[in-house]
Amino acid sequence: MTESLMKTYGRMDVAFTKGEGAWLIDEAGNRYLDGLAGLGVTALGHADPVVTEAISQQASQLMHTSNIYRIPAQEELADLLISITGMDNMFFGNSGAEANECAIKISRLHGKQNGINQPTIIVADASFHGRTMATLTASGSRKVQAGFEPLLNGFVRAPFNDVEAIENIARNNSSIVAVMVEPIQGEGGIQIPDAGYLQTLRRICDENNWFLILDEVQTGNGRTGTYFNYQQAGIVPDLLTTAKGLANGIPIGVCLAKGKAAEVFVPGNHGSTFGGNPFACSVAVTVVNEILSRNLPDRAAALGERIKDRFRNKLAGLNCVKDIRGTGLMLGVELDAPCPELSRKAKDKGLLINVTSDSVIRMLPPLILSDEEADQMVDIVCELIEQI
Ligand SMILES: *Cc1c(COP(=O)(O)O)cnc(C)c1O
Repeated sequence: MTESLMKTYGRMDVAFTKGEGAWLIDEAGNRYLDGLAGLGVTALGHADPVVTEAISQQASQLMHTSNIYRIPAQEELADLLISITGMDNMFFGNSGAEANECAIKISRLHGKQNGINQPTIIVADASFHGRTMATLTASGSRKVQAGFEPLLNGFVRAPFNDVEAIENIARNNSSIVAVMVEPIQGEGGIQIPDAGYLQTLRRICDENNWFLILDEVQTGNGRTGTYFNYQQAGIVPDLLTTAKGLANGIPIGVCLAKGKAAEVFVPGNHGSTFGGNPFACSVAVTVVNEILSRNLPDRAAALGERIKDRFRNKLAGLNCVKDIRGTGLMLGVELDAPCPELSRKAKDKGLLINVTSDSVIRMLPPLILSDEEADQMVDIVCELIEQI
């Protein structure tokens, strides 16, 4: 391995040269079942022919212009996302962190416009919102923050899934402008809140004139059984961010806004050189349309149930298994002790998964996974668990 890269990742010593659907092939020709989809990115799998055609078609026509000009593909993608979400408008960046930065800036500016000098956002313990200074400050993980102090002002923290803590803050802090959460925490260990959590947050935000910001960078784009996870709660956020699965690997992030949140920015408030360029947007239009036309959100819901059932059957009675949980194809098996070595051991058995929050085996397979591939993934994970 070269020394020319910064040591930001503890990488495994394997490199893939080709992908086919839910499979990756390494330099030596070994095949691996992709249970992680590049961390929830390649929802349609690798080398999907429709996506490949969209990429080559757009690359041969036009890659980049500038947001100084109209970009028809950006307008088309925006109209498509509006029709799915019922939001009012949106801003395109290039990553999840940038999408969240946009939501944070809108919330702060809206607070300022309403006479709040220290606009403050409530964020959750164990959350993950990205690695820029604002989003790492918003994240509830010391690992992400340590050494990068001074952090930003304007964030207060409440435990995830605890609405009383938020009601308490509402009574004591008049500078709050927004609540920002993931509907299901991904990096935090596939943490699913109680039914009614998002509805209660919506009510509290309405009562206090706060924005509800939902970070659907990981939960979005069909992964949890509906196009966005909040749709299962029957509420609508003021600000909604997504990125990972939106263009199957072409970098893109988006912040959608509704109502007052959609009217905050004016020219000069925000921007991005690459954000929303013709290439990324036209590929995203194809990806979103494929996710919808192949009914992949429904497929994710059904397959997720199959996977959890198979885990429950095969792991019944194993004391080291604390919990089997997930929604759609965002799945976790929590063990009673840290198991960081399992990612590597799974790789050696031809399966790609990872471990988050020290002891949660995380699976984010592509939405095009077959039943047989799903069973194979479960069987390999169970073998590994049985060996410890
Ligand atoms: C991955 C992730 C992010 C950060 O996305 P980047 O594209 O890496 O900046 C933010 N929020 C959530 C919930 C994520 O899972």
